[in-house]
Amino acid sequence: MFNKVLIANRGEIALRVIRACRELGVKTVAVYSEADRYSLHVRFADEAVCIGPPQSKESYLSVPRLIAAAEVTNADAIHPGYGFLSENASFAEICGTSGLTFIGPKPESIMSMGDKALAKDTMRKAGVPVIPGSDGVVFDFNEAKRIAGEIGYPVIIKATAGGGGRGMRIVREAAEFENAFRTASHEAEKAFSNPSVYIEKYLERPRHIEIQIMGDRHGNVVHFGERDCTIQRRHQKLVEESPSPAITQEIREAMGAAAVKGAKSVHYQGAGTIEFLLDKDKSFYFMEMNTRIQVEHPVTEEVVGIDLLKLQIEVAAGERLKKMKVKPEWHAMECRINAEDPMHDFRPSPGKIVSFHMPGGFGVRVDTHAYAGYEIPPYYDSLVAKLIVKAKTRDEVVDKMYHTLDEFIVEGIHTTIPFHKKLMKNEQFRSGDFDTKFVEQFNFKD
Ligand code: ADP
Repeated sequence: MFNKVLIANRGEIALRVIRACRELGVKTVAVYSEADRYSLHVRFADEAVCIGPPQSKESYLSVPRLIAAAEVTNADAIHPGYGFLSENASFAEICGTSGLTFIGPKPESIMSMGDKALAKDTMRKAGVPVIPGSDGVVFDFNEAKRIAGEIGYPVIIKATAGGGGRGMRIVREAAEFENAFRTASHEAEKAFSNPSVYIEKYLERPRHIEIQIMGDRHGNVVHFGERDCTIQRRHQKLVEESPSPAITQEIREAMGAAAVKGAKSVHYQGAGTIEFLLDKDKSFYFMEMNTRIQVEHPVTEEVVGIDLLKLQIEVAAGERLKKMKVKPEWHAMECRINAEDPMHDFRPSPGKIVSFHMPGGFGVRVDTHAYAGYEIPPYYDSLVAKLIVKAKTRDEVVDKMYHTLDEFIVEGIHTTIPFHKKLMKNEQFRSGDFDTKFVEQFNFKD
């Protein structure tokens, strides 16, 4: 096992890693920007190093500063969390050459899955079903238009370097294609410094279902079942749950097997997620792979009863995974409590939290770095807390989530709590029959 892990992240995930390390008897080093001086990860880690000013570029994204912090504190491994440098192959490589274990996959795996078009191609070759579309990126407009015509409209143009719900454009008819193609590629260049785009069939009203996997250093890959992340706004997840109300045990096993096959084809090590879209006819298609631990991992932890963070650290230290067969016995759901104002188009609402009361009780879990008096800085993501509840059935979970949200008091800033409360009372949501367009049409302001 490692002696000391440096956490190259902040917020709730930094706390989550600290807790896992404590249980494993591993010492921790927190890094923080000047804006995070009063953050809990700084207080709870065994050591803390200030790595620069608030701007991420000069702190949490500064590779030289992170490596220097690891060297002065004598850390032997780095946990990247999610976001920031977690899917940066060159960071993973520099960790390796600096004698630090990167708690995540090999740089080659990050690279092959980081480019979305290449990832799709890799999965297709491994025999995983992918959404019909171009073979990789397309540069030429005429070629692109021909492919779109062949696939049939609507199509979606995606930036190969895209992520976080950005860099996608839906085209409904041939007449709009030229404009959309040029804009998409121009935007991709601006946002990701890479203009390359690829084309795929736009599925009408699919569900987003993903499989949690883990690979060890000995070639074993296991999966832990699915998370249904269909409740999204602008391609950003708001609620995640498991098991999915839309699939059977048979589909779960087929998806799980496809995910494991895909991960094995890139010799995947560490925690990862294979994202699929489930079409109305219940066919599923690979969409992308996230080569890190995800925000919504607690949903799976609650359903299968395994601490994924500890397991991720253990496999990074060389431990072998045991075979497992997943049959969910619990139902779990997570609501993302963001510092955003749902009544005003979810606009960011940073600032000081004046009062803060967390819910509790059987089957209730809150992963958060917030407290009364904590000031949410405007520089980073808006996640304040993850509220996860579990019960034996989906109906019980939805009811419990409603009551739990009612007990969650956050004053001083706006949060997404009122949105979630309305959602838990919505009949269609409760029925389990909805798709990725649901939030767009959901009138929660009445
Ligand atoms: P990101 O990396 O930015 O999260 P993804 O490729 O995972 O992008 O897509 C995010 C969301 O966009 C999906 O969950 C889905 O709602 C929507 N989406 C992506 N591709 C398609 C498609 N071909 N058809 C329909 N919806 C899609």
